[in-house]
Amino acid sequence: MAKAEASTRTISLVRVPDERGIGVFCIADGNKSQFYTFREIPCEIGGRGFAVHRLGQGNLYHVRVGKPEDRSCECMGFLRWDHCKHVTGLLALIKQGYLPKTPPQPLPQGERG
Ligand SMILES: [Zn+2]
Repeated sequence: MAKAEASTRTISLVRVPDERGIGVFCIADGNKSQFYTFREIPCEIGGRGFAVHRLGQGNLYHVRVGKPEDRSCECMGFLRWDHCKHVTGLLALIKQGYLPKTPPQPLPQGERG
């Protein structure tokens, strides 16, 4: 019944986050690829938060990565299995050094450049 996770799944960074923190990654699963835009969002409850938007489908997931207890995602896969390709993918990108090691600093409010 239980299927092992496909070992052919790979994640790659398509576009590094720009000055607004918006980047694009691609998850390739076998011969299918799916592109996602992502943006790191402030997260005050541990771990790092990302808004991940699946291109072409309109799905938006809030993904949290970090220590095992600080991981979460809103997709069906995570609800069911406690892990998913979004969490695994973002963790891989961070581990491989593709994303900044530290979360973005909030801009000071009320100041104009
Ligand atoms: Zn997910």
